[in-house]
Amino acid sequence: MEKIKLGVIGVGHLGQHHAAKYAAMSDVELMGVADVNLARAREVAARHQVRAVDDYRALLPLVDAVSIVVPTRQHFAVAKACLDHGVDVLLEKPMTVTLAEADALVAQAELCNRILQVGHVERFNPAVMAMEQYLSNPVFIEAQRIHGFNPRGADVDVVLDLMIHDLDLILSLVPSPVKSVQAVGIPVVTDTSDIASVRLVFENGCTANLTASRISKTTVRKLRIFQAKSYISLDYGKKEITVIERREGREADGMPKEAARHFCFADTDALETELKAFVWNVRRRGTPKVSGVEGRRALKMALYIVELMKNFVAEHQELLS
Ligand code: NAD
Repeated sequence: MEKIKLGVIGVGHLGQHHAAKYAAMSDVELMGVADVNLARAREVAARHQVRAVDDYRALLPLVDAVSIVVPTRQHFAVAKACLDHGVDVLLEKPMTVTLAEADALVAQAELCNRILQVGHVERFNPAVMAMEQYLSNPVFIEAQRIHGFNPRGADVDVVLDLMIHDLDLILSLVPSPVKSVQAVGIPVVTDTSDIASVRLVFENGCTANLTASRISKTTVRKLRIFQAKSYISLDYGKKEITVIERREGREADGMPKEAARHFCFADTDALETELKAFVWNVRRRGTPKVSGVEGRRALKMALYIVELMKNFVAEHQELLS
């Protein structure tokens, strides 16, 4: 089997892991890494004995596909150039900072018949993948994504930085359009919102409450799903799910009978699964689980929420001062 030739553009905190995962795949040849910080590119390239360049355009003639792991504000320019060159693209999340940019990438990928996959890695979290078989009809969803401050990612709002993971997943889980959105978010350490609380109400009646914070002292990444006859609790970080299903009848204390099951997938790596899926799509010309269209859907909701939060801040100056 011919190896797929891959490159990684941007080898900072996350990109170095993309490079390592590709370098370890038997059906992939990592052709090189690119970073405007050439010393950094050389450092990561040396780990895998591949070439290092500071201008990503030098990689494009050598590869079938790339991972783009540069800061979000540069996603569009780099991805557009790669697609224009006829290279398949795995683009980290959030796919772009504007909808117009997302539209242009989706259109370009279609025009050039190139794969455009967006890096919503939680969809490849083994706990999320295992949860799918227990989903019937979510009635109420609660998502929490909370951790301490890290300047990486802080070039965009907390909704685009963190909450977009849960937005993407929830929009993929609930088979109904969103009817209404309420959002509150406030800046604390950056100029944009650092903590946000959002409520989505879907046309089928399902309600989702989402909280995201990048200024907390603790780390929590959890999803809870309530359904008519079951409850699912998912810990993204521990890669665990607990499923509690109601049974007929009552216990002696009057509580409904239930059966609880617990699954842990600590050994499965979500990034590796995501990148393997990308390589498979490149080889088989498959449709990505998280395509440009899905990436755009999550971005559209995130940008709408950001606008609601700006309005909230503008309208509640007195409360916030
Ligand atoms: P980072 O700052 O650690 O790394 C970015 C790297 O890109 C740096 O080394 C920088 O020198 C390089 N770079 C900048 N412009 C470039 C260009 N034009 N060409 C080549 N290299 C360039 O950032 P990070 O934390 O690795 O995040 C990168 C992207 O990954 C962001 O979009 C972020 O949102 C995303 N991300 C996604 C997840 C996830 O869970 N899917 C997690 C972390 C980061």
